[in-house]
Amino acid sequence: MKDIKKIRKKQQSYFYTGATKDVSFRMKQLSVLKQAVLKYEDRILEALKKDLNKSAFEAYETEVGVVLTEITHTVKHLKAWAKSEKVKTPFTHFLSRSYIYAEPYGVVLIMAPWNYPFQLMIAPLIGGIAAGNCCILKPSEYATHTAKVLVNLIEEYFEEKFVAVIEGGKDVNERLLEENFDYIFFTGSIPVGKIVMEAAAKHLTPVTLELGGKSPCIVDKDVDLKKAAKKIIWGKFLNAGQTCVAPDYVYVHTAVKEELIQYMKDTIKNFFGEDPKESEDYVRIINHKHLHRLSNLLVKDKILFGGEVDPEQRYIAPTIMAGVTWEDAVMEDEIFGPILPILEYHSIDEVIDKIRNFAKPLALYVFTKNKHIEKEVIDNLSFGGGCVNDTIMHLASPYLPFGGVGPSGMGAYHGKASFDVFSHRKSILRSSTLFDIKFKYPPYPKTLNLLKKIMK
Ligand code: NAD
Repeated sequence: MKDIKKIRKKQQSYFYTGATKDVSFRMKQLSVLKQAVLKYEDRILEALKKDLNKSAFEAYETEVGVVLTEITHTVKHLKAWAKSEKVKTPFTHFLSRSYIYAEPYGVVLIMAPWNYPFQLMIAPLIGGIAAGNCCILKPSEYATHTAKVLVNLIEEYFEEKFVAVIEGGKDVNERLLEENFDYIFFTGSIPVGKIVMEAAAKHLTPVTLELGGKSPCIVDKDVDLKKAAKKIIWGKFLNAGQTCVAPDYVYVHTAVKEELIQYMKDTIKNFFGEDPKESEDYVRIINHKHLHRLSNLLVKDKILFGGEVDPEQRYIAPTIMAGVTWEDAVMEDEIFGPILPILEYHSIDEVIDKIRNFAKPLALYVFTKNKHIEKEVIDNLSFGGGCVNDTIMHLASPYLPFGGVGPSGMGAYHGKASFDVFSHRKSILRSSTLFDIKFKYPPYPKTLNLLKKIMK
């Protein structure tokens, strides 16, 4: 095991040299990162194929391309983001001026999951570098090939004192979390999120937790069902459902349920052919543990489509389950796999009441042409973020901060939000040396009259 304490201390010493605070240094490092990703592109795509059977298109679209776009956007705006911000000063602070400085935290730990093992490691790193931090990266041990490529890429292009990568399983994670970091950015499951937050609390380390949960997809009767089906099936079966913001289940108006299901079946066939196992575009389950967990959620009588499991290939067919109730095992936890349960409703109030009973989701999707329904859902349900008449796509905008709320996470990133999340906003009041109001000092005035006029 690498000497974690030594690496953190080395990074801390480097951070205190001030080198990483220089904005041109940060810009240069982001360009280096871009160069590295471009050079490693083939190796990254190959590793993602080995770990998850991701097609080159899907791997570029959701991992490599996302990271390159994010670097380009960050480099374009970084100078403006990094400038101190002048804000208003109240008249009580006569002749003073007020500023907010974006200050890097110092040495930050970034932990990533296995489902988008490249993107979810590098996207936060972009924010970490942009904000001027030193970063220690911990890739998931389950996406082994991608983890190896990440180690090679980082070690070839960055000095350990600035960006280091630590591989390993449970004991390495535990060891890492004993250290006193200046910030922890964690992406992963809710149970591990709790472990991370508990460990961070020991040092009062601030955290961002990008977690998961059951993201509902509501389909109203007033909608273009064919288009809705296409967008839902794409969002659900992308990465074989192993996406934190995948529609976990469909909650459809009774009047259009049968028609929607028919369109969804047709869409699956159009996307992946008669036998999705033969499709080059259909991803595999990360490991046997998850395959086993997902197989146990399948209820034979409720499978309307798919349902095939081939453990040898770590394959689970795109599956639709209907007649599902809230008591079924598939509705207990986040599915995180290619199983789509369908539930039905009669009124939007019923939907809102039901969803409020569960943990606040990371994402929520509503398909409707009805502005009233759209407003009801957005106004009355709390969730990380989402789309109206689409799935997943809110994630792909650098102008929309991405994160959860409550059990689905805390903090948000992407675009400027990535810079902000890795920066402490330091407020400074620059007072005048010319003038000093006597009023605030003892001995105080004998009456509160003036004070009450000012402070109301
Ligand atoms: P995970 O929580 O098992 O692992 C995430 C990271 O934590 C890995 O680096 C892993 O090595 C580490 N880890 C595992 N056990 C640990 C422990 N006991 N102590 C400390 N660290 C530990 O998550 P996962 O299975 O890799 O990913 C799936 C989950 O991540 C899903 O719940 C999904 O919704 C969520 N997720 C969220 C987002 C998001 O952006 N919000 C993105 C992707 C995945």
